[in-house]
Amino acid sequence: MKEEFSNFITEIIDKDIATNKYGGRVHTRFPPEPNGYLHIGHAKSIWLNFTIAHKYNGLCNLRMDDTDPSKESEEFVKAIIEDVRWLGYDWQDRLYFASDYYEQLYEYAVKLIQKGKAYVCGCSPEQVKELRGTLTEPGKECVCRRREISENLDLFHRMKEGEFEDGKYVLRAKIDMAHPNLLMRDPVLYRIKKVSHYRTGDKWCIYPTYDFAHCICDSIEGITHSICTLEFEVHRPIYDWVLDELEIYHPQQIEFAPLNLSYTVLSKRKLRELVEQGYVNGWDDPRMPTICGLRRRGYTPEAIRNFCFKIGVSRINSLVDIRLLEECLREDLNKNALRVMAVLRPLKVVIVNYPEDKVEYLEAVNNPEDPTMGTRKVPFSRELYIEREDFEEIPPPKFYRLAPGREVRLRYAYFIKCVEVKKNPQTGEIEEILCTYDPQTKGGYAPDGRKVKATLHWVSVPHAVNAEVRLYDYLFTKEDLSNLEEGEDFKNYLNPHSLIVLKECKLEPGLNSVSPGERFQFERLGYFCVDKDSSAGKLIFNRIVTLKDSWAKIKTRIEKESQK
Ligand code: ATP
Ligand code: MG
Repeated sequence: MKEEFSNFITEIIDKDIATNKYGGRVHTRFPPEPNGYLHIGHAKSIWLNFTIAHKYNGLCNLRMDDTDPSKESEEFVKAIIEDVRWLGYDWQDRLYFASDYYEQLYEYAVKLIQKGKAYVCGCSPEQVKELRGTLTEPGKECVCRRREISENLDLFHRMKEGEFEDGKYVLRAKIDMAHPNLLMRDPVLYRIKKVSHYRTGDKWCIYPTYDFAHCICDSIEGITHSICTLEFEVHRPIYDWVLDELEIYHPQQIEFAPLNLSYTVLSKRKLRELVEQGYVNGWDDPRMPTICGLRRRGYTPEAIRNFCFKIGVSRINSLVDIRLLEECLREDLNKNALRVMAVLRPLKVVIVNYPEDKVEYLEAVNNPEDPTMGTRKVPFSRELYIEREDFEEIPPPKFYRLAPGREVRLRYAYFIKCVEVKKNPQTGEIEEILCTYDPQTKGGYAPDGRKVKATLHWVSVPHAVNAEVRLYDYLFTKEDLSNLEEGEDFKNYLNPHSLIVLKECKLEPGLNSVSPGERFQFERLGYFCVDKDSSAGKLIFNRIVTLKDSWAKIKTRIEKESQK
């Protein structure tokens, strides 16, 4: 992995090492704001920062970027820590909080005022907006900009002491109101917010902005390469300006394209909206692209890390096909998950020529990809469940599964032939299927060499374990939600069929003692994971992903087409 991992960021770092820019050191950080749960986009950033540190024998810090008290909480801090750990990363003793630097940040702000590089501005938001100018017009300087240093110091101190209401004053950098980059037209460094902070309580009522705090936090921690997403590119001149004016250690900000994934949204604000307005069942709803949602669904950290590696790092915005994420999971589980038989929509089959009380224990393979995973015994008896959709009374063309008069194979067992269909006399609904079995076909092969066209999975009725199974589809019906029309609500595209709950599922008996988080392949159906709310009395499984390898098919098609 160390050798293969290279991209435009490692090229920059290689050069920095060659020129001894930071004494050969590499030190990155992952800086989430604890105002929500992490999502798969954050996973990419986590993977990138930790993998870079690992590649260069450097360090990566975990830093809570908690400078806006209004939406931050301890709950989110805990969840972030759990998620980064679960992904497999270790920051050792370097867990930091921007809020731990408040005193120092305040002193740096005072230093800027003393240098004549920051001023307290009392303009209303409307005035600020008016004076800012536009892309084609320079901004105008306000009267506050000419305030004496001593008066600025006094006002800033009084802001800190809580003398003024929210919004009365802000501290602004004195840069250039005619700067071509609008963000450089005297950006706000501090604002008054009389809101309790989840860590500092009511000690502070002024809070630094991202632009002021982030670069200083990086500097204090000795970060070398401050990696962030593209939207911060336009903020980089402020990052550099603040550190240069303060004349303190100066890391380098590098931007990369954020992950966009099809059929979902990756924005904490939008995800929060889904949770708070009840469109999903919490942050860890298995349909959510959050790390905790993916974990509950049954994703493995390996699959997520492998996905991050495969999509790579660039500076060009793009939409990643969610099927690539699914494919990474299949790759992992295909090798590692135990295969078992489960029937999701049961249809009863009675084998009329099989003795009433007989039970046979048939040998089943645990994972054909890995012989060391061994075999197990599955009970077979006169009454079985098969999948309702594996039987058709009037089979359409190309339907090769069970139908009246037709013979199929039961996996690991026998050939059976449908001899009669029993229906409910009132409703006409099929209630059970009567079949005969051929005792000569034990193990699934006929000594006379005759063939069948289908192999079905099944579960013995008296041995079956009951379970609830939850099937998930994409949360949204629209592929690309990153470029909605102005004013268009992303929630208009919620998929009404994203969750289907099946309550009458039947599992082979070995599954009666599973624990939450265990993953299986249900033969012919997909990969499933025991839900965290599952108990011995009530088993609940989440479908992680179907077996159908649509991505692989698409890939081969693309490859074939490109060879033409
Ligand atoms: P959101 O936009 O979802 O609210 P955020 O950027 O506000 O996310 P932060 O907690 O500030 O959330 O993000 C922490 C780090 O994760 C930042 O460095 C940010 O650049 C990075 N990050 C956020 N979203 C993505 C994404 N989709 N792809 C890659 N990195 C991301
Ligand atoms: Mg952000």
